[in-house]
Amino acid sequence: MGKDQTVLFHSTIFGPIHSRRLGVSLGINLLPNDGKICSFDCIYCEAGYNRQGHGKAGLPSREKVADDLRTKLQEMNQAGERPDVITFSGNGEPTLHPDFAGIVDDVIALRDEYCPQAKVSVLSNSTMTGKADVVSALRKVDNNILKLDSAVEQTMRLIDVPQQPDFTVEKVVEQLSVFADQCIVQTMILRGEHDGQPVDNSTPEEIDALIAAYQRIKPREVMLYSIDRSTPEEKLQKVEIDELRVIAARIEQAGIKVQVN
Ligand code: SF4
Repeated sequence: MGKDQTVLFHSTIFGPIHSRRLGVSLGINLLPNDGKICSFDCIYCEAGYNRQGHGKAGLPSREKVADDLRTKLQEMNQAGERPDVITFSGNGEPTLHPDFAGIVDDVIALRDEYCPQAKVSVLSNSTMTGKADVVSALRKVDNNILKLDSAVEQTMRLIDVPQQPDFTVEKVVEQLSVFADQCIVQTMILRGEHDGQPVDNSTPEEIDALIAAYQRIKPREVMLYSIDRSTPEEKLQKVEIDELRVIAARIEQAGIKVQVN
């Protein structure tokens, strides 16, 4: 294993971040401000491995999230600024928060009050999509972005390191297919080595398996992306944009809309 990373978000609401792709973006971190909690332990996680611990701050309450977001939106309004997108991401998996569904309702209500044009997005690792309240909350947001890094069981386990033993590719594909065009599937394409084992989800066999899974899920679109910042496993290589585009073209031939980031 490589060195631990400590690139954590140190607040519940972060940003605004200005990007060419998303515009003005606000982030919501439903995890602790000083540690990480996730049901995966991805070898590419920008927040580092789970072994760094949960920290001491605990999860923010539903009230704190709403209060902090209201304050931020009021500050932005006073500065003549409005977010284009409000995204749940942060130091781990947002749907693990026990009040996730209620928080989504609060965030949508605040968005409607302060910046009705803004889109609400959730970046989730898909592990909680078997829970009815999580599913109905994810259906309410504009961009329900769900992770599927490999449709080959062994590769998924090597890349994502799911923490629940009963999490399988078969199960998650079935659960994601419930959303169909109410979800966007996000896939990190990478290659390298982890714990002495080769890891590569860019091979033709891997892409074929992903295409078969996407065809079952029928998402609104697939987002392919690659490593952008440093990763806890240092023996991973960035798959360059040109190669991502070649993979995207192959997936599009199977009738699936693809965005490359
Ligand atoms: S699902 Fe996201 S937060 Fe969790 S380990 Fe993977 S990259 Fe990190």
